[in-house]
Amino acid sequence: APRAAAQEEPYVRFRNVQKTYDGETLVVKNLNLDIAKGEFLTMLGPSGSGKTTSLMMLAGFETATHGEIYLDGRPINALAPERRNIGMVFQNYALFPHMTVAENLAFPLKVRKISASEIEAKVKRALDMVGLGGFASRRPGQMSGGQAQRVAVARALVFEPKLVLMDEPLSALDKQLREQMQYEVKAIHDRLGVTIVYVTHDQSEALTMSDRIAVFNEGVIQQLDTPERLYEAPVNSFVARFIGENNRISGDVLRLDGDECVVEMKGCGAVQ
Ligand code: ADP
Repeated sequence: APRAAAQEEPYVRFRNVQKTYDGETLVVKNLNLDIAKGEFLTMLGPSGSGKTTSLMMLAGFETATHGEIYLDGRPINALAPERRNIGMVFQNYALFPHMTVAENLAFPLKVRKISASEIEAKVKRALDMVGLGGFASRRPGQMSGGQAQRVAVARALVFEPKLVLMDEPLSALDKQLREQMQYEVKAIHDRLGVTIVYVTHDQSEALTMSDRIAVFNEGVIQQLDTPERLYEAPVNSFVARFIGENNRISGDVLRLDGDECVVEMKGCGAVQ
């Protein structure tokens, strides 16, 4: 994967970011995170650890209670939404059901006032990229979950964004398809050189795809490292257990209590 030169400005920068929804509990405690241009950065952690909230603040759907988020050197909230050029894929991919696949893909281009002939070319290219060249006139209801999810990926990429945000985009798919899509998403990332910020609670998915992984627990990044380093040199017992195979097989939900990793719920988030 393309790695940015060390001297380059980070493309995404979280600076002392905090977030509370109820004015009391900090669900994101003091987030400092730099993401390089072209990087595949995964936010990994158990349910409720603040990953989606962090992604939503980067997308501009939620506002930080404290601190600042920068995109390409500029505060995110100073950029008009259509100038941010961010593609997004979420778990419930929310394709427009009444539109064909081609119309779904054309939508973000029409919003950007791109000419009809250019829209047609871009839609075709995006569909070919996810292996759905023959599906342009289908409606989402006439496709499998995996195909619809591919359309969602194509729609996030069709306007050639510099940054793509993905929140559990594959978790609704069965195991085999999920693994296949992991490799496809990774291949698209490598080919386009796009920056991807990816949220998941699935450690094997994170380890497969990421340049670096930020391991979240209770609104705090426990460790930010390459998959290899996380595996070989976890900084505490939470990271060790969360990255390790134990939790994947047992499905236990883990929590860090001081330095000690405790099982909060038994056998919940098991990845089949
Ligand atoms: P994750 O993505 O790691 O599962 P979230 O960022 O979704 O974590 O949630 C972090 C915490 O914030 C959770 O306790 C969740 O219940 C709470 N939370 C998330 N969204 C909202 C919201 N819109 N209003 C109130 N609380 C929220």
